[in-house]
Amino acid sequence: MANPVLTIVVPCYNEEEVLPETVQRLSKMINSLVHDKLISDKSTVLFVDDGSRDKTWELIEQFHHAYPAMTGLKLAKNAGHQNALLAGLMTAKETADCVISIDADLQDDIEAIREFILKFHEGCDVVYGVRKSRTTDTWFKRATAQGFYKLMTSMGVRIHDNHADYRLMSKRALDELERFKEVNLFLRGIVPLIGFPSAVVYYDRHERFAGESKYPLKKMLSFAFDGITSFSVTPIRFVTLTGFVLFALSILAAIYAIVGKLWGTTVSGWTSLILSVWFIGGIQLLALGLIGEYIGKIYREVKHRPLFIIEKKLVTEDTPERV
Ligand code: UDP
Ligand code: MG
Repeated sequence: MANPVLTIVVPCYNEEEVLPETVQRLSKMINSLVHDKLISDKSTVLFVDDGSRDKTWELIEQFHHAYPAMTGLKLAKNAGHQNALLAGLMTAKETADCVISIDADLQDDIEAIREFILKFHEGCDVVYGVRKSRTTDTWFKRATAQGFYKLMTSMGVRIHDNHADYRLMSKRALDELERFKEVNLFLRGIVPLIGFPSAVVYYDRHERFAGESKYPLKKMLSFAFDGITSFSVTPIRFVTLTGFVLFALSILAAIYAIVGKLWGTTVSGWTSLILSVWFIGGIQLLALGLIGEYIGKIYREVKHRPLFIIEKKLVTEDTPERV
């Protein structure tokens, strides 16, 4: 395809500190790709304001008026990173041939965008950005992320290690993505299910250059837990298996107790009794909790609530002026 239209989707939540720099760097990148005739001069950046409480939207409007290639989407309220991203992708695919998603803080090296585009020209529908190293993350984030990827793989979920949401998708792949009507959205798990030709591009991850992470530990854990339970029933199987083992053990224990009673060798054991009551109680609660987790997911899926609500759109109809 000659000169595809590229749209770069950037979800933003309270990112006023990083936006000016982000706009500069992304427009420089787009200009150089247009110059090298790798993308069309109709290419744009789409900022999705995910219900920010700071000046993010005002900034997006200013940038749009100064440079029409910078477009914006304002969500009516905070919908979360994954939903904001989806809102951007679905809007972008209306006008673009390929769409790249990237975080506003540009921790992901934007130089990789050039390679993404080259892979797209080679015929890939999905290009995954994968981090070479995580030296800029804390050891804790590194360790938990590593554990998470291992766990996911061991449960048979195909995801790329160290791939966040930095990726290119063709319009065709996005059309297919639209058909996955999931409320518990975990994009990096869903995208590999699409199955079109794909490639991987390696890059270095930098520090956030301003502002702070919008993924505190609590959000990170719930994201990981969502990822696991949206894609696999292994935790439920594990609980069932534990149940079976415990049941078998308790039959053995019962036989031992009865035989002991008949021979008169047992002392009435309060400790073991109370321990087993607690133990079984605990396991049951765990099992109930897990089952509840899945039922909760079904509950949210069947309601079919919209994942995001768009309040305003700033789009450019004609060839946008180059920045
Ligand atoms: N983000 C969002 N909605 C949210 C939280 C985050 O759109 O509710 C955006 C945020 O502005 C950033 C991206 O998601 O562009 C990733 O967030 P962040 O950089 O804070 O995460 P980290 O890199 O620390 O994992
Ligand atoms: Mg970040």
